[in-house]
Amino acid sequence: MASGVKLTPLAAIEKLSERIIRILGCNPGNHTLQGTNTYLVGNGKKKILIDTGSPDNAEYMRNLKKTLQDHNSTIQEIVITHWHNDHIGGIKDICTDILTDPVKISKLERKSVPDQDVSPGKYTFVEDKHLFTTEGATLRAIHTPGHTEDHIVLYMEEENALFAGDTILGESTAVFEDLHSYMQSLQKILDIKPNILYPGHGIVIENPVEYVTYYINHRNERENQILAVLQKNTGQNLSTLDIVTSVYVGLNPSLIPSACGSARHHLKKLVKDGKVELINEADEEKWTLVTRKSNI
Ligand SMILES: [Zn+2]
Repeated sequence: MASGVKLTPLAAIEKLSERIIRILGCNPGNHTLQGTNTYLVGNGKKKILIDTGSPDNAEYMRNLKKTLQDHNSTIQEIVITHWHNDHIGGIKDICTDILTDPVKISKLERKSVPDQDVSPGKYTFVEDKHLFTTEGATLRAIHTPGHTEDHIVLYMEEENALFAGDTILGESTAVFEDLHSYMQSLQKILDIKPNILYPGHGIVIENPVEYVTYYINHRNERENQILAVLQKNTGQNLSTLDIVTSVYVGLNPSLIPSACGSARHHLKKLVKDGKVELINEADEEKWTLVTRKSNI
């Protein structure tokens, strides 16, 4: 998380390229870093807005309105990267205070919990690989679950640029619901080899391949440490706490619960990978290495 990290200040409104303007959500915080990045995309009179910041933020609304006026533009449609409140929160005020006519508000549908419409807005659910087009820009939605199940990143062909939502953050590591799918999504981003990455929070990432590789390596390193503990204790069932105390020797006791949470994500991923087995022993979760059985 961002605590203790000094973040690069970001301008409230900044033109980032010929066809991209970033408008900061004016909602800084531990989870949102400098605030949510929202992006106006396209070089025509009608632009696509990616994400909308947090609810009830008058400063953001003023800045968005001013940017549209300064560029003599309107919002063609809104695309949402994922359901979190700091990305959908501005929809209501945009619909009532800025738009004169309703526009399409697109996102991928959540499967486990239904999406709630942000009145008076109504979602149009799109599929993976959906194309959004506006003057000067084409955006391809790519389903990248992990941070959330409905998460999409948007690939802009014209600049080989990727709007990364919350899969990758500037100057911080991202949080996730499901590490197994999160790692696959990072690999998907890496395979695209974008030149530049525009995250949902934080600074523009100008060396995306290196940066995403660092994210992947950071996670793999943890995974290998956890596997090493299980390998050293092959045939035994270890609790999450047993594993954490072996991996992080001398860890400050106040940090143990969050280390256990993180280790559990890794262990669940390793179960999905078929490398670890979860055993419930007297209501306690225990983990053990899957050893290959001989075919003879
Ligand atoms: Zn966010």
